[in-house]
Amino acid sequence: MKYRLDSKLVADKATEALANRGVDCEQIAEIVLHLQKEYYSELTLEECLYNVHQVLTKREVQNAVLTGIQLDILAEKKQLASPLLEMIVNDESLYGCDEILALSIVNVYGSIGLTNFGHIDKVKPGIIERLNDKTGGQVHTFLDDIVAAIAASACSRIAHGKHVAPDRD
Ligand code: MG
Repeated sequence: MKYRLDSKLVADKATEALANRGVDCEQIAEIVLHLQKEYYSELTLEECLYNVHQVLTKREVQNAVLTGIQLDILAEKKQLASPLLEMIVNDESLYGCDEILALSIVNVYGSIGLTNFGHIDKVKPGIIERLNDKTGGQVHTFLDDIVAAIAASACSRIAHGKHVAPDRD
C-alpha cells in the first residue's frame, strides 16, 4: 500500500507529545503574554493562546515538535548511540542541533520570530526555566528550544497581526 500521511494524526500527536512532556499550550501562552504585554497593553492570555494554537497548526512546527521530543525521550531511555547519547543527555554546549531544529519553527514567521527566539533563549521565562533546570532526571535538551520557538513564533504572529490584518493565518 502506498504511504499516505495522516495530517490530523501528526497534529494530534504533536500536541499530545508536548502534554506528555509536561507542557501545555497555556504555559506557552503565558510566556507570550509576558513578552508582548509591554508592547500591547490590551493583549489577553486568550489571544496569546489562540496564536499558540495557530502556530501549532503548521506542519513544520509539528515536525520539529515530534522530532525533538522523540530525541529527548530516546536519550532519556539511553537508546541513542554514543557519543550522541551523552551530548544530548548533558545538553553539551557545542551540540547546537537542538537550536537548529527549533529554528525550523521560527523560520516560518520571519525575522521577528528569530529576534524573539534569541530573547526568550536568553531570559528563559516561565516554563522554559523549569525545562532548563537539569535536576528532574528528564532530558529536555530539544524541548526547551522548541517551546521557546513556539512562543517566539506566537509573539511574531501577534506583532504581524497588529500591523497587518487583524486575523490572518
Ligand atoms: Mg536546548
